[in-house]
Amino acid sequence: MGQIASVLLPMPLPEAFDYDVPDGLELAVGDQVAAPLGPRLIRGVVTALRDGTGGNRPLKVLAERLDEPPLPPATLEFILWAARYAADVPGAALSIALRGARAPQPRPVRIVEATGLAPGRPTPARTRVVEAAGQARLAPADLARAAGVSGGVVKALLDEGVLRLVEERPVARFHAPDPVFAAPALNPSQAAARDALDRMTATGDFQVALLDGVTGSGKTEVYLEAAAAVLARDPEAQVLILLPEIALTQAVIARVAARFGAAPAEWHSGIAPPQRRRVWEAVSGDRCRIVVGARSALFLPFQHLKLIVVDEEHDSSFKQEDGFIYQGRDLAVARGKIENCAVVLASATPSLETLRNAETGRYRWLRLASRHGTARLPDIDLVDLRETPPDTGRWLSPPLVMAMAETWGRGEQTLLFLNRRGYAPLVLCKACGERLCAPDSDSWLVEHRYSGRLVCHLTGFSMLKPKACPYCGAADSLVSIGPGVERVEEEARSLFPEARIAVFSSDTIFDPREGRRLIEAMERGEIDILVATQAAAKGHNFPNLTLVGVVDADLGLRGGDLRAAERTYQLLAQATGRAGRRDRPGRALLQTYAPEHPVMQALKAQDRDAFNAAELDEREAAGLPPFGRLAAAIVSGPDAQALDAFVRTMAQAAPNGEGVDVFGPADAPLSLIRGRRRKRFLVRADRGVDLSAYMAAWRARIRPPGQIRVTIDVDPYSFL
Ligand code: ADP
Repeated sequence: MGQIASVLLPMPLPEAFDYDVPDGLELAVGDQVAAPLGPRLIRGVVTALRDGTGGNRPLKVLAERLDEPPLPPATLEFILWAARYAADVPGAALSIALRGARAPQPRPVRIVEATGLAPGRPTPARTRVVEAAGQARLAPADLARAAGVSGGVVKALLDEGVLRLVEERPVARFHAPDPVFAAPALNPSQAAARDALDRMTATGDFQVALLDGVTGSGKTEVYLEAAAAVLARDPEAQVLILLPEIALTQAVIARVAARFGAAPAEWHSGIAPPQRRRVWEAVSGDRCRIVVGARSALFLPFQHLKLIVVDEEHDSSFKQEDGFIYQGRDLAVARGKIENCAVVLASATPSLETLRNAETGRYRWLRLASRHGTARLPDIDLVDLRETPPDTGRWLSPPLVMAMAETWGRGEQTLLFLNRRGYAPLVLCKACGERLCAPDSDSWLVEHRYSGRLVCHLTGFSMLKPKACPYCGAADSLVSIGPGVERVEEEARSLFPEARIAVFSSDTIFDPREGRRLIEAMERGEIDILVATQAAAKGHNFPNLTLVGVVDADLGLRGGDLRAAERTYQLLAQATGRAGRRDRPGRALLQTYAPEHPVMQALKAQDRDAFNAAELDEREAAGLPPFGRLAAAIVSGPDAQALDAFVRTMAQAAPNGEGVDVFGPADAPLSLIRGRRRKRFLVRADRGVDLSAYMAAWRARIRPPGQIRVTIDVDPYSFL
């Protein structure tokens, strides 16, 4: 009797395919194999094995088992679970999980080995080299350095045949973290949280805790102590620390290295492929204890995962919006459940979903009382732009400029926060009134002065800023409307020409190390005024920063989606929380046209609980998350009529479900992207409904014609 293997391929296919296992090939679930698909061999993963043969329809035969690490069973289970949750095909989730395995191998390096032959002329230098070659596998130059000799000595021994060169694939080696390396003395509130986490991780069971404390209260310190306790108990344990943005990983990597005397592995899309491969193999080979990464690190093949930390858990960047769509924070909890390990969600402004779980006792709720040491929260004032507006064409109001002058005069730092990249969010023609859009999308082009280009932030389309209006041809008629960070920087420079001013946004900072350098310059007080988007508003410590000016506090409220108020509150609380971290009191000024708005009032009063309570009441009344569930279907196609016809049939195909309401189809707010028209459905369901299954059932009933694409987004964060 032969054997049949179900093999999942990392591509958008509806299911795993069956293959005949050739005689003599020993396989196990999780093995990576080469499977024929059409004329090609594709890397896939065995998800099931059973005895049997293909019957009257012969199956294709697997080519071979790859000599590469298998996926651990829990990783495989997680991939299948994630796909089900996202109402997507499992191959899409597998594709993320194999990203490291599929990356090219690092180039082999040449290593010196002793052949066993004794040197003809055994001088002390030559003997040292032979000894050193026996102790470690080193490249020729490193061997010479280790033995304290010149390169010539090594070369002579190679020529003589005492040593030989062998090619070796470099493997990533991570030094074992030392749990007692630099343990801090925790304050009582931090120690209480650490003890609670210790008790939790000691059980070795799946449990979730919310670590809730204002910025600067020491959440990072506490979760690093939780990691230390886990590693002290079990040196084999693996710890995963997830951060919402690549820019933040650098700071946490530095703190992990300082705390444990050993650098962790780093994982995100910015890592070069060969290094990605090394990290993937080190994690699966159990040679790496701590990983700091972005959301995709959740898909790594951990062997002994004992603790997952999701830092800044409220951050909407944990939501992956293209390709395989998932919410990293929610999947972290799912992975914790599958691995039977502890999960810590840390935030100063937890998401309402997490708060609700803490309130109902599903998650443990650990609150850190206040800022560490003498640092205290900044005073927050609202600047009513109706009463004290900036001059025309300016964006900083007189009270903010005054506060900046005072701060600079005291030798302290200012952060101007504006969550808008570029110079101006809109360029219009004053002759014909047209707003400049990308040729195939209906979103505005953003002016970037550094590059002199107009850029579509949605699609990446860009063009040089034209001299004449592309619509009416009028010359010199284009005007820049509204501010982006570059424009605020320009204004700050004209107000304070002597001050050291820098901009931090994803357009001005290209790689995480450069970002880190700017952050360090800010930490050392070498920048007086930093103009930044949210990239710098989160997670950093600037001891000499005492003023935060929020240029447009109303910005996030205008979107009008489910989380607009929540997100605005979180972002502004984070941004204002940057001020006054050490011994100097800080101040935050929020420029707003709506000082009476509940978000502004809650920020001013620093009353997070009141804000959340009001917001939760509204959500409950409407049956919205966290009290109900949402999913979206986004349907797009190049032809408006065909799209209309298809969404009508799709609406009719929606399954009937108890406790499920389907809204739409409606034009998406971004109704044209890259030449494709877009429509949306929104589905609301009661909490008990398996909304993923509902969406999958709906998808199974429709057959989108060729050019129409249906994307399902379970728990949507973007409503555009
Ligand atoms: P959070 O993560 O809550 O924003 P951090 O852990 O970054 O807070 O702590 C804020 C600052 O205070 C950091 O510079 C940190 O090193 C310092 N700090 C916090 N707790 C302690 C402690 N117990 N001992 C020494 N320094 C601490």
